[in-house]
Amino acid sequence: MPSARGDGLKVRIRRAAIERRVRSVAGRITRDFKGERVHLIGVLKGACFFLADLAREINLETSIDFIAVASYGKKKDSSGQVRMLKDLDNNVAGLNVILVEDILDTGLTANYLLRILRQRRPKTLSVAALLDKPSRRLKPVKGDYIGFTIPDEFVVGYGLDYAERYRNLKDVCVLQPPPR
Ligand code: 5GP
Repeated sequence: MPSARGDGLKVRIRRAAIERRVRSVAGRITRDFKGERVHLIGVLKGACFFLADLAREINLETSIDFIAVASYGKKKDSSGQVRMLKDLDNNVAGLNVILVEDILDTGLTANYLLRILRQRRPKTLSVAALLDKPSRRLKPVKGDYIGFTIPDEFVVGYGLDYAERYRNLKDVCVLQPPPR
């Protein structure tokens, strides 16, 4: 069973707390979109576990799709570029779209994706993120549905990786020393 034990990993948010918070965020979405359908767009790969758990706690008609992006250039300045690796399968025009991210960090990814999605004329467009690191923001992005706000630490687990490792940890853990 994957666990947080091992070198350099410290549990930051336990699985039980994640479960409680995901239920509460899903409850808010259910209330906010009462009687309507929501369309969740997960940003691969980090958001896959969050999206899967969130979708199952939303008590509305719910559809899902995925998009993949890569960042290049220096992430430390706001001209850092994002490019699309995999586009959506379905049209989002007229839908209540919720962009589902693992973490809002500099905001470059969400900023880029929101611009693209807005051009496709959804009925509404909002952002859900499991984690938010507002102190690192380079582009102004506001999460509508945030799980946890965390300090500037490099975290892994529950979908988040370091060099493709640790995504399957059930807890969110801090990697020490940070890889930067
Ligand atoms: P942004 O464009 O907001 O800077 O970055 C978003 C992406 O950077 C996230 O979707 C995630 O893939 C990656 N990222 C940012 N902070 C962390 C972190 O603390 N841990 C991990 N594993 N990835 C992060």
